[in-house]
Amino acid sequence: MVNLIIFGAPGSGKGTYASRLQLKLDLEVVATGDIFREMMKNNTPLGKRVRGYVEKGLLVPDEVTLEVLKQNLAKIPKGKGFILDGYPRTIEQAKALDGIAKIDAIIHLIVPDWIIIERLSSRRICKNCGAIYNLLYLKPKKDMICDKCGGTLYQREDDTPEVIKRRIEVYEKQTQPLLNYYKEKGIPFVEAKCDKLETPPETVVEEIMQGLHKLKLV
Ligand code: ADP
Repeated sequence: MVNLIIFGAPGSGKGTYASRLQLKLDLEVVATGDIFREMMKNNTPLGKRVRGYVEKGLLVPDEVTLEVLKQNLAKIPKGKGFILDGYPRTIEQAKALDGIAKIDAIIHLIVPDWIIIERLSSRRICKNCGAIYNLLYLKPKKDMICDKCGGTLYQREDDTPEVIKRRIEVYEKQTQPLLNYYKEKGIPFVEAKCDKLETPPETVVEEIMQGLHKLKLV
């Protein structure tokens, strides 16, 4: 059983790689952003509360996020590990996580800003199953239709130039310091670099798998 956190700026590919690692390693993915979007889609009371933050590219308050995390970790079958995508994003969230679960390694995605902006503005997502596409390099076979389930693709409301800029700023200011937090705790890191727009996800996933293998975690 292995518990991982995948870190990287918005658009660095966390969701894309986490969903592929999930299949290879038989882990559960807990992606707080996806959970918030689902709550917003269903217009639940909490969904209404988080919408204002998500649409502006701001962080949802820690107490809401932590509650959502706890509920979703509790659903994971006993003995099964997980990948956290989008959590923690603040030192407070990391400290709260310390009290809940043991983390075996951090996957850190290193991607230059220009790739992030290119990718986010051409990203499309399946309304039905959440699969991630890109109109430039990860195109669906049929225009705006999901290859996996036939659902319609849409653009996230926070994938607009202004909100992308804000999300990158929030990442640099509030989330990047967490890398040091985990380094100081001695948690091992697996680093994956991507400096070409056309690098297929499989190549990066392979690099991550090799890193996890070296650490004898898989
Ligand atoms: P990205 O990493 O591409 O910005 P996510 O899907 O991970 O996208 O997150 C989308 C939005 O959901 C964030 O901008 C933020 O508003 C909210 N969110 C997700 N995870 C957290 C978290 N751990 N703490 C606070 N807000 C979060």
